[in-house]
Amino acid sequence: MSEVQVLVPRDVPLGGLRAMNVRRTLPSRERTLIGAWCFADHYGPDAVEESGGMVVTPHPHTGLATVSWLFTGEIEHRDSIGTVAMVRPGEVNLMTAGRGISHSEISTAGTTVLHGVQLWLALPDASRNMAPRFENHAPVPVTGEGWTASVFLGDLLGCSSPVAFPVPVLGAELRIEAGTTLSIPVRPEFEHGLLVDHGTVTFSGHELKPAEVGYVAPGAATLEVTAHEDSLLVLLGGPPFGEQLVMWWNFVGRDHDEIVGFREEWQAQITRNGAVLSDGQDVADGRFGIVEGDHTPPIPAPALPNLRLKPRV
Ligand code: MN
Repeated sequence: MSEVQVLVPRDVPLGGLRAMNVRRTLPSRERTLIGAWCFADHYGPDAVEESGGMVVTPHPHTGLATVSWLFTGEIEHRDSIGTVAMVRPGEVNLMTAGRGISHSEISTAGTTVLHGVQLWLALPDASRNMAPRFENHAPVPVTGEGWTASVFLGDLLGCSSPVAFPVPVLGAELRIEAGTTLSIPVRPEFEHGLLVDHGTVTFSGHELKPAEVGYVAPGAATLEVTAHEDSLLVLLGGPPFGEQLVMWWNFVGRDHDEIVGFREEWQAQITRNGAVLSDGQDVADGRFGIVEGDHTPPIPAPALPNLRLKPRV
């Protein structure tokens, strides 16, 4: 049995009028990365009537790919490369920011319950200045006795995702029925994190509760998961990333000055005569482009902290 490091989530308000709360396990004090996965937000099930839903108006990204995976609800995604796409349960939306993109994410009017994960993958140095791109994929679930897996990135349990990423990566939804033990063959060079949405599971001999992530270091050829209740899980993995990152706000870079530059470029695009624009269509073109058809106000970057941002491993 492998040692399991438990990452306990912290509640973070996502923004928007009534500030929907998310449970964040990456980055955490204990861990910055699981493979290339550098950010893990888990939310809901939330009644949109109470939470206000997801209202994230145009904002920029660099050096990462966002991975949206929903269990319930629907979100409209718009970005500066002209994409207008829905995020729906069972479909992965992967938006690669590369050198720069901006996008908005707003839950649709028909969404009453919102429930899912929002994940980021760090781009390796050799690819992080690539042109931005967007991909959607609906994996065909694979099933066995007492379990179902939907593999949205990488290979697992005989299922392979066609969505490409510059470094090996794994992302899969697992549904395991109460009383079932699933032995999952994995690549020994990968490290893994198992996020529990609901249910209680024993993962490599360690009990995990809802919203926790159990991390297992490289070396295991099989991961064993026993569900004590019907459980919904997300398994993430990849070989250790091996590069130091500076993560601040919506940017992934390599040093403080680069982040300062990204921030300045975004602020220059969204301000006129010192005032933040109120209409996303008035944003100036630049590194992050303009989110086509989105008239909501762009989100200004917060102030930088009064110290130099330090790389994290
Ligand atoms: Mn975003």
